[in-house]
Amino acid sequence: MTYDLIIIGAGPAGISAAVYAVRQRLNMLIISKDIGGQVAKKAVDIENYPGFDKISGSELVELYQKQLKANNLLVQQDEVLGIQKKDGIFFVSTKSKKVYESISVIITSGAESKLINVPGEEEFSGKGVSYCSLCDGPIFKDKIVAVVGGGNNGFESALFLSNYVKKIFILEFSDKVKADQENQDLVFKNKNIEVITNAKVVKIEGKVFVNSITYEDLKNNKEITLEVNGVFVEIGYTPSTLFVGDLVDLNEKGEIVFDPENLKTKTPGLFSAGDCNVSKYKQIVMASGEGAKAALSAYEYIKRNK
Ligand SMILES: Cc1cc2nc3c(=O)[nH]c(=O)nc-3n(C[C@H](O)[C@H](O)[C@H](O)COP(=O)(O)OP(=O)(O)OC[C@H]3O[C@@H](n4cnc5c(N)ncnc54)[C@H](O)[C@@H]3O)c2cc1C
Repeated sequence: MTYDLIIIGAGPAGISAAVYAVRQRLNMLIISKDIGGQVAKKAVDIENYPGFDKISGSELVELYQKQLKANNLLVQQDEVLGIQKKDGIFFVSTKSKKVYESISVIITSGAESKLINVPGEEEFSGKGVSYCSLCDGPIFKDKIVAVVGGGNNGFESALFLSNYVKKIFILEFSDKVKADQENQDLVFKNKNIEVITNAKVVKIEGKVFVNSITYEDLKNNKEITLEVNGVFVEIGYTPSTLFVGDLVDLNEKGEIVFDPENLKTKTPGLFSAGDCNVSKYKQIVMASGEGAKAALSAYEYIKRNK
């Protein structure tokens, strides 16, 4: 059987693509490792999604599931390992050794935040440890926080957080920060932000919530503990794009290069949306928007190629 469309991933981008595709009466298959993607991992409430003052990750995932069911959409729980295109047809192979065929494919496989892998990181995730300052910054109003990472991610997070928190420590492992000069200028003139280089994070501690972060001062070989209420890990993302092969171009971070107008990749019929794409901001509302756009573009393609 050849589907009109295969959607890979069932996070916000994939769900949104599916909801739009079903309205175009496309015969589709959704293949995903889970439902909800990063939203399912969200431990504190989402406060920046239109229509909701607050909603927890698990509540939003439940609503996704209800919407899929209402549209008779099933998610094939599996992991995609490869995609090939031959004679105008895509062949999507999975871990369970199945191969599915379709006229068009939308990749919405998302990304995962890089971890620092220190004691306390997992234990306090959602209890003071966050991977998204844009999402969780306002929760730390008037508190003291550490931002781990002295690149653009870390510096831009610190600048955003400075609108809310009273003190920010940026901890950078190497002896120099890597942020652009423009970000450095803004950070270094902000009195509430202190940049500490040669700082290797050793552990995060607390009771119910985070109350300190300890780093090794690599210059003086001693451990220093800072009392903080929150730790923002801002050392980048790993996009889930390894399985795509050479059907798409990837940037240096492994994100998919796409046309923002129509979500096309370099391969006709192959679209991509959400956090797996090259993008500065990674948010639910943006991934959802791209998913919708990709489905409408895929529909146009399928109409012409069926
Ligand atoms: C802790 C945390 C808190 C956040 N808080 C907020 C917030 O408050 N507000 C906000 O707007 N954003 C928030 N974000 C960001 C937001 O969750 C993401 O931007 C959004 O989930 C991206 O959606 P996506 O569908 O592109 O990717 P993802 O959510 O990453 O979903 C990707 C999907 O693809 C599947 N997948 C991956 N690889 C494969 C494969 N090979 N085969 C099959 N399936 C695959 C995954 O299982 C998953 O279902 C947060 C992120 C994190 C990690």
